[in-house]
Amino acid sequence: MFATKGYATHAAREQLKPFSFERRDPTPSDVQIEILFCGVCHSDLHIARNEWGFTTYPCVPGHEIVGRVTKLGREVKKFKEGDLAAVGCMVDSCRTCPDCEEGLEQFCDGMVLTYNSEDKHTRGVTYGGYSTSIVVDQDFVLRISDKLDLAASAPLLCAGITTYSPMRHWKVGKGQKVGVVGLGGLGHMAVKFANAFGAEVVLFTTSPGKADDAKRFGAHEVVVSRDEEEMKRQVNSFDFILDTASGQHDLNTYLELLRHDGTLTLVGISPEPAPIGAMPLVRRRRNLAGSLIGGIAETQEMLDFCAERGITCEIEMIPMEKINEAYERMLKSDVKYRFVIDVGTLR
Ligand code: NAP
Ligand code: ZN
Ligand code: ZN
Repeated sequence: MFATKGYATHAAREQLKPFSFERRDPTPSDVQIEILFCGVCHSDLHIARNEWGFTTYPCVPGHEIVGRVTKLGREVKKFKEGDLAAVGCMVDSCRTCPDCEEGLEQFCDGMVLTYNSEDKHTRGVTYGGYSTSIVVDQDFVLRISDKLDLAASAPLLCAGITTYSPMRHWKVGKGQKVGVVGLGGLGHMAVKFANAFGAEVVLFTTSPGKADDAKRFGAHEVVVSRDEEEMKRQVNSFDFILDTASGQHDLNTYLELLRHDGTLTLVGISPEPAPIGAMPLVRRRRNLAGSLIGGIAETQEMLDFCAERGITCEIEMIPMEKINEAYERMLKSDVKYRFVIDVGTLR
């Protein structure tokens, strides 16, 4: 075991603060990574504050991890010391169930989250990327291009794959009208991907001040969702809507915007349930769906796609000690458009 510095929270109502713990020495199939940057996902906040009800404390969040390989188990062939490497939301799975065989490790019952899961090695809990290093099985470590800005690539590991995967699954492309709800970490990547896939992109926002940025990221139109008249003009016109909003809002309004057979896919996970009327679904054979991150192979595909197209995230870099402030700003929808922790400030 070796000493690692991190930031943890010890209870739902407590702030994050410095926390020292130990990581395992690499097993033969492990990669040890010195973490350079870690993105701040709204899920980190939901989990740190136990808003989904399954947090184990102390909790070290962080699942948008990029860094450099510092040590390798003897069986690892895919990486060498000094390589760039990345870790997303998962660090292991059972590898044998039908979901794992399909490359959909995110749905495996034995999937191990990067943080807040049982750690099979230590029997404690897994600790995430708000820390100076991490040790992960090679099959869950991703390759990241040195052509892209490294800090601006970190959020691809969750915000990127979570928006890329459903758009691939529902075949977003040319000739389609696609909506994105919320311009935060996930939403701004959803706008970029929908545009890259050739769709007509409409952003729905509660923050009128974000309109120019949304257009710069690739939205063709911006609708202020609190304006009923503006919303009415969009009724029955969408093939696909990706809802990234982190807080409670009315889903029926968005269902009404779909054309027949259109799909509203939720990736945002508001802690409060939302009532759904049957009528908006029934009337035009509309679909309501959800999506969870993406498998490891698809995450690599997304990273390679981003490297090829020069796609990265819009970030605001913060030192580790500003994390509590960043959470408060995230709650006010004041994120432009992803906080990324400069983990060097923790060393
Ligand atoms: P974020 O950066 O905080 O962005 C969320 C955006 O949603 C806000 O900027 C705001 O955009 C909008 N919003 C917030 N509260 C709202 C409300 N009550 N009604 C309408 N819109 C609201 O968060 P994020 O990191 O992108 O994460 C978004 C959600 O996705 C979180 O719930 C997170 O846990 C979840 N998530 C899910 C997965 C998955 O695999 N399914 C993966 C990662 C994250 P505007 O200012 O533009 O309105
Ligand atoms: Zn996330
Ligand atoms: Zn499995």
